[in-house]
Amino acid sequence: MKLEKNIGDFESLGDDHIGTSASTPLREDAFKLSQDEKIDIIKQDVRHIMETLGLDLTDDSLNGTPLRVAKMFVKEVFGGLDPKRKPTASTFENKYKYGEMLVEKNITMYSTCEHHLLPIVGKAHVAYISNGTVVGLSKMNRIVDYFAKRPQVQERLTIQIVKELQQVLNTEDVACIIDAKHLCVNSRGIRDVDCSTVTSEFGGKFKEKEIKREFLDYIKLETTF
Ligand SMILES: [Zn+2]
Repeated sequence: MKLEKNIGDFESLGDDHIGTSASTPLREDAFKLSQDEKIDIIKQDVRHIMETLGLDLTDDSLNGTPLRVAKMFVKEVFGGLDPKRKPTASTFENKYKYGEMLVEKNITMYSTCEHHLLPIVGKAHVAYISNGTVVGLSKMNRIVDYFAKRPQVQERLTIQIVKELQQVLNTEDVACIIDAKHLCVNSRGIRDVDCSTVTSEFGGKFKEKEIKREFLDYIKLETTF
């Protein structure tokens, strides 16, 4: 896969560099407001939506909802919009000379569909072949979680995970498969509860048939303790 130069720059620099299709579409002023200022504004917006729907916000059960939702948006479900939350890219030299594929499978992933703001829930499987650099295992989980915690489309999320790991590991040989349920499909609209969406991005050697096959076979391994 060809790395588009300024995508990596945006993700590493974080602020103010916007405008490629694999990047989350952000406004120029995306980071001008503090987190607390954002929470305060969103709290009013949520209150407005609820009141417009006819709800009585003086009711004890509803009174705390606007602030609760605002905090949840800014700090949790969309916390991955904040470049400061990006996992640090600490890598290690591959001293044990492990030259085979490493697969981190069944990474639980919670994201949000940017078209409906409804949950996307599923599993991500990430793999790489070391080029001399290795990364802590949980780092892959953290990278998945960071990019998942944005308004997303699953295709972009898959690409963002691969590009980030390619940059961190300094190799093209990275792959990611995501299998996820979109509640906007499962619980409303067509309401197909059994349907899930699979996306994949194969970089470098993972484009080769045998390497791809190996990755897919590892994912199928049943893990029991
Ligand atoms: Zn949707």
